[in-house]
Parts: sequence; structure tokens; C-alpha cells
Amino acid sequence: MDYKQHITIVEDWPKEGIKFKDITTLMDNGPAFKSAIDDIVEYAKQQNVDVIVGPEARGFIVGCPVAYALGVGFAPVRKEGKLPRDTIKVEYGLEYGTDALTIHKDAIKPGQRVLFTDDLLATGGTVEATLDLVEQLGGEVVGCAFLIELSYLNGREKLKDYDILTLMEY
Ligand code: IMP
Repeated sequence: MDYKQHITIVEDWPKEGIKFKDITTLMDNGPAFKSAIDDIVEYAKQQNVDVIVGPEARGFIVGCPVAYALGVGFAPVRKEGKLPRDTIKVEYGLEYGTDALTIHKDAIKPGQRVLFTDDLLATGGTVEATLDLVEQLGGEVVGCAFLIELSYLNGREKLKDYDILTLMEY
């Protein structure tokens, strides 16, 4: 399916010069959203996945239906202070300053085969930080699935050691 026809490009949002890729118009379209999720489900089956992990908030939108379809668990990765029990944390660089992501310590068991999901791969900072958390907990990252890849930002460079699926490329 040509998924790009369902993505809306919003000029100068959230700041001037950014061409934001809005996936909500893909989600709005039942058949297109289902087909995109089904593509990731097929990939997850090939990779023999035990658990899905995704960062807030759009990583949940992509990852949860995949987890449901496979009958496997979903482990949320959230900004600091949002998860209620014992967590581990990783800090990662943003354009200005740093941010932190956390995961529950028991969300992934050692040896589990983990699929990372998110809406979009840009610089790769978010996925890199999340994979760090997964590996600290002993998970084996068997794939990373994104709806969209902004290939001009070279996020793939950070994922050389991992298998990647992207459904659209800009
Ligand atoms: P990265 O860490 O630079 O790879 O940025 C990826 C993260 O930023 C993902 O979690 C995305 O949800 C978000 N993001 C960056 N640009 C866009 C965009 O154009 N549309 C939707 N999300 C974006």
C-alpha cells in the first residue's frame, strides 16, 4: 500500500523550518492503519518476538496493536517520573540539552526477544536510548520497526547492529 498518501506534512511545526510528518491522518483511515500495523505484525512474526517496547507517546500507538495481534506483552518507555514502580533510566542528548527515558526494571526478562516500535526514525536518539534500556535489562533486540524514516537525518547510522523495518522513507 502507498502509505505516504495518508501522511500530512505540516510546514513550520513545531517550529519554523520543520516539516512535521503527521501520522494522525494515517491512523484516521481504518484500512490504511490496519495494513501498516499488519505489515509490522508480519515482520514481528519473522523475528520471533517475545515482547514489544515503545517510547511515549506515538511508540504506544504503533506498538500496542502489534503486541495485541501477536498476543505478546508491551513494555512502555516513558519520560522520567511517569512510571510508578522501580525503573532504570538513560539520559540522551537533544538539540539543546538532555532528556531522560525510563522503563520498569521488570518490564523485560533476560533473554527475551524484543521488537522496538515507534512512528518515526529521525536522528535515532530516541531508539538508541531505548535500546540501551532494553539491553541493560538483558533483552535481545531482534528488530526496530518504524512507520517513517527521515533518511536525510541518518538515524540508521546509530542502528548498524540491528535489523530495521520502515514503511515509508523521506
Ligand atoms: P529521533 O530521536 O531524533 O530519532 O526522533 C524520533 C522521535 O521524535 C520519535 O519518537 C518521533 O515520534 C518524534 N518525531 C520527530 N520528528 C517527527 C515528525 O516529523 N513526526 C512525528 N514524530 C516526529
